Amino acid sequence: MQKRLHNLRSESLENLATELDTLRRLIADSAPFPNGEQQLALTRIVSGLTVDGWNELSEAYGFSDWLALTLDSSSSFELAHLQRVLDELTHRSERDPLTGLYNKQAFESKLSMELQRVERSNGQLSLAIIDLDNFKNINDTYGHNCGDEVIKTLADLLDASTRSYDHAARIGGEEFALLLPGAGPIRAKAMLDRLCRMFADTCIKCNNVTIQCSFSAGVASLKGRSKASGKDLFEVADKALYQAKNAGKNQVHVTRQLIEFEYDRSTMVHSNEKQFLFSGSK
Ligand code: GH3
Ligand code: MG
Ligand code: MG
Repeated sequence: MQKRLHNLRSESLENLATELDTLRRLIADSAPFPNGEQQLALTRIVSGLTVDGWNELSEAYGFSDWLALTLDSSSSFELAHLQRVLDELTHRSERDPLTGLYNKQAFESKLSMELQRVERSNGQLSLAIIDLDNFKNINDTYGHNCGDEVIKTLADLLDASTRSYDHAARIGGEEFALLLPGAGPIRAKAMLDRLCRMFADTCIKCNNVTIQCSFSAGVASLKGRSKASGKDLFEVADKALYQAKNAGKNQVHVTRQLIEFEYDRSTMVHSNEKQFLFSGSK
């Protein structure tokens, strides 16, 4: 029990250290305002962090230049309000307004976080790109509003049928992405196949008509220290999606898992050759 508590504590400290580190890098990398104005950075208020916990962190990760505040009842009220406003703004800036799913930018940042985590933990990660089939026909036949209904229906299905630690996003007009931490190619394929069947069986009501639509998906998976970037993973998943479309749509294609894929970026192979290495097919 003692050990478990200790592990939990050090894990959350490590997460916090990573977040603070990212923020510090962002501030350091951002160009100063041209008129020399000072920049202001606000970070999340971490409730429940003890002084000892903070001291441990700042010593281990060099956060002595960060501000840590002790909370009393009045400042705690103001800060809680500020936190709620920040949470609301963050939520809005990360979401696609039509579906409420993550937007592309937020998804890319989740992807880079999960890639770091997979590298640290030597775990697995899968990325699926999902594209609605013949969607132009849906718009042309039933109108743009009904097209939007179809997009929202798929978004709701992705949201409701994925685990709390999966990330679902709308990354383009009728394109979605799913990030499945901990899932290898077999589990990811099973999950996407189930979603594909469920969506094709869904009757969507709009303007007194019933619409049925389907999607195709491409999945890329990696394991451990593959050294593959988010862009690599997107390229591989995109290729699998292309294969799913070519094979008749309404289906899911998965590429071979990327394992310990080490390469020197200075002598990197051309992206077409790289896709061949990833997927084992041309
Ligand atoms: P494929 O099966 O090969 O993917 O064919 P497709 O018709 O789905 O693909 P295509 O790229 O030809 O058409 C995509 C259409 O999606 C065209 C565009 O007007 C429509 N679209 C993009 N964003 C939205 C949106 O937000 N709402 C609606 N209703 N339509 C959209
Ligand atoms: Mg498309
Ligand atoms: Mg499409």
